[in-house]
Amino acid sequence: MRPMARVTIIGGGPGGYEAALVAQQLGAEVTVVDRDGLGGSAVLTDCVPSKTLIATAELMSDMTLARDLGIHFRDHQGDPATELYADLGVVNKRVKSLALAQSSDIESRLARRGIRIVKGTGRIDADKRQVIATWTEDDAEEAIESDAVLIATGARPRVLPTAQPDGERILTWEQVYDLDELPSHMIVVGSGVTGAEFASAYLNLGSQVTLVSSRDRVLPGEDADAATVLQDVLERQGMNILSKSRMESVSRDGDEVTVRLTDGREVTGSHCILALGSIPNTEGLGLEEAGIELDEGGFIRTDKVSRTSAYGVYAAGDCTGGFMLASTAAMAGRIAMRHFLGDAVIPMDLKEVAANVFTAPEIATVGYSQAQVDSGEVVADTLRLDLKGNPRAKMQGITDGFVKLISRPGTGVVIGGVVVGPRASELIHPITLAVSTGLTVDQIANTFTVYPSISGSTAEAARRLHHVE
Ligand SMILES: Cc1cc2nc3c(=O)[nH]c(=O)nc-3n(C[C@H](O)[C@H](O)[C@H](O)COP(=O)(O)OP(=O)(O)OC[C@H]3O[C@@H](n4cnc5c(N)ncnc54)[C@H](O)[C@@H]3O)c2cc1C
Repeated sequence: MRPMARVTIIGGGPGGYEAALVAQQLGAEVTVVDRDGLGGSAVLTDCVPSKTLIATAELMSDMTLARDLGIHFRDHQGDPATELYADLGVVNKRVKSLALAQSSDIESRLARRGIRIVKGTGRIDADKRQVIATWTEDDAEEAIESDAVLIATGARPRVLPTAQPDGERILTWEQVYDLDELPSHMIVVGSGVTGAEFASAYLNLGSQVTLVSSRDRVLPGEDADAATVLQDVLERQGMNILSKSRMESVSRDGDEVTVRLTDGREVTGSHCILALGSIPNTEGLGLEEAGIELDEGGFIRTDKVSRTSAYGVYAAGDCTGGFMLASTAAMAGRIAMRHFLGDAVIPMDLKEVAANVFTAPEIATVGYSQAQVDSGEVVADTLRLDLKGNPRAKMQGITDGFVKLISRPGTGVVIGGVVVGPRASELIHPITLAVSTGLTVDQIANTFTVYPSISGSTAEAARRLHHVE
């Protein structure tokens, strides 16, 4: 380990702050330059706020099941009450205060560990050994000498000239938390993970929802069986999903928002969320001058230990593209620091990344996909077991969802899995453990599960994949 190596990190999201903690632990002198608040978009506008909103939506969804499980609501006079509603002003107040509190917790944690925080905008000097920080408060500039630089500047919502957000009714995902009242009709443009999560959330919160999807089904990048289950559930609950429908423009007239499609159709609602993907925050950072390679989308190219093409400059998180997740950003940042500071490094293996779509039902995935098996890219056995046969699912009134395991034919080693159902994000963990440590289906099948439990279906799926030679 180099004595008191100086590390400067631009960006205080999970890619940056997790790296800062590791670098400090390994003995470096660390400075984090961040312009919008510690925790980054993950904590302030994206991951934490959306999952907090979804926590309310999830409870609303559970409550609609209540009647099937024998629970009824009464008003204060004892008469049956049927209407449940979400007070979005209260919900969003909670969302924002939780996000701010988490940001401030992260800031305090870094400060307690002696990490210097500069509230400002950073860029790297062409000789790469300096970060120039412009302080937010007084516009003063400071050159921070550094032995290594980590760029973790994240990404922002993509907007189009024909669909400009106004922050009131035409919204990016960062702007939805200023709404005081539940939109009567939310149009969500984009059916990738972000679009699907917001569409599902507003539907469960009680809005009428139209989802505009340019593809033939929602979540085109996810397991096709899982996406089909989700689409069935959403349509059964009344969502209007416009498949193969490409948005041309979005405009507002008073309280009305109109989404025009390229085939001439129009959809009118009260609000619209644009979920059109992300673009990296890589402009104005001095990257080209420093000889740092970007791809065609403007994302920084890195290797498996987060090195860029310039010596001593690392990059992590959304600004590098790939799996754009808080967990992968944090891991890439930690790996960068371990690599630079000479600690043991395990290079990033994207096949071990567990990811979740927080819709109702949730969709969690890890490892090789069914699409890779179907295309012949990987030879594997797959088995899907629907949850409707699971005793715990029956007790809980869960009718939709499944567990899918993907394993090597000869050895039975688990190389992938999908879980669709409530809390799939929790249920994927044993499968992730199996994928990352090379467990076989027999090892999973022979491990006790609680009876009754949803995870019993994972063990049962593994049992069914057992080979008799
Ligand atoms: C709606 C939504 C929901 C999501 N939910 C999840 C989820 O549930 N789970 C999950 O794992 N991931 C989720 N993600 C993805 C996750 O939010 C990102 O992958 C994560 O934020 C990436 O972290 P990061 O550190 O790369 O960047 P960010 O979190 O974007 O942080 C970057 C920071 O850098 C700062 N910055 C930028 N440029 C400069 C500069 N020049 N100088 C100084 N500071 C700068 C920014 O202000 C920001 O604070 C979600 C994304 C979206 C859009």
